Amino acid sequence: MKIIKNSFVFITLSLSSLQASAETQSWESLLAFSSNFSDRLAGSRSEYNAGEWLINQYEDLGFEVNQYNFKYFYKDKKRQSRNIEVVLKGKSPKTLIIGAHYDSTGHRKGSAGLIDNASGTIALLALAKEIKEQEHFYTIRLVSFGAEEVGLQGSKKYVTSSSFDKDNLVGMINLDTVVGGDYLYIHSAHSSPYKCNDAKSSNYEYSPWLRDSLLSESKKLTDISSYHLHPATQGYPEGETGGWSDHAPFACEGVPIAHIEATNFMIKGKSGFDGYSQTSNPNFWTCFNDEKQTACKNKKEKGWGQIWHTKYDQEKYLIPELENHIKTQFHSNIEFLKSFALAFKG
Ligand SMILES: [Zn+2]
Repeated sequence: MKIIKNSFVFITLSLSSLQASAETQSWESLLAFSSNFSDRLAGSRSEYNAGEWLINQYEDLGFEVNQYNFKYFYKDKKRQSRNIEVVLKGKSPKTLIIGAHYDSTGHRKGSAGLIDNASGTIALLALAKEIKEQEHFYTIRLVSFGAEEVGLQGSKKYVTSSSFDKDNLVGMINLDTVVGGDYLYIHSAHSSPYKCNDAKSSNYEYSPWLRDSLLSESKKLTDISSYHLHPATQGYPEGETGGWSDHAPFACEGVPIAHIEATNFMIKGKSGFDGYSQTSNPNFWTCFNDEKQTACKNKKEKGWGQIWHTKYDQEKYLIPELENHIKTQFHSNIEFLKSFALAFKG
């Protein structure tokens, strides 16, 4: 009995040390990706290099990587980017897409895109590693989109390409800025249609079932950060989000979507309670009025608690201030998505 008990302890310890080393690896990849490719401006050489690195990482894990090069116009110039995809076959051809853009606003905004969106990109990579040997019901496509920050070019191209298998697609989860803000939220598409191409708006889908499935699954896991629905704000009913990220082209195509992001809808930001101010940490404000959860003086405020698209979105500012917070959110997202992907049966 003693022997059995000891080996049980040994197996438990081995599993937890395996998990700890997987967590250390994915955390180091996050920091390395955002600092080695800190200027992933859409269409640039460095966005291309970041894509090469990602492809190598997936190939090292044994995946066959699909690359979809595409061209687009931005500011009257023809540019090029690509989407990168790996497929984890499930028992069913029915498919769930989990996507994250890997470009960033780049150095022109002073950002290294650590939270936006190295966090989603490396969460996908970690997820691929975690579930590749495990059985799951739905086929899962993990898609790293290019050129999101210049008009959702990658996701728009993805849903219009000839290889887009809409008939088998049950839903799309968008990971955009999944760490850094005070709280983790899961949104559904807005109940008023996004601006889709005319032909698409009649297909528009805003069913919250994927969001609600994610939320109820998250409640079963007690050792992760909790996920929230944002409260109703002006123009945005509870839990519904705008069309500013890669989930929008999918909603326009009639695909149920969910969007995970870290921010804080309780702060009164520059334009109201819109979730654009991500943190009440006073170091990201000129002066924060804790009682009123807004700037001390609107006219004098420069930071507004915004990390994304600013100089604060890099290791040198984020790690001294928010290391543990970001680490917890990052690992919670991976753990949660793994558990959801393995359990999900529609
Ligand atoms: Zn983003």
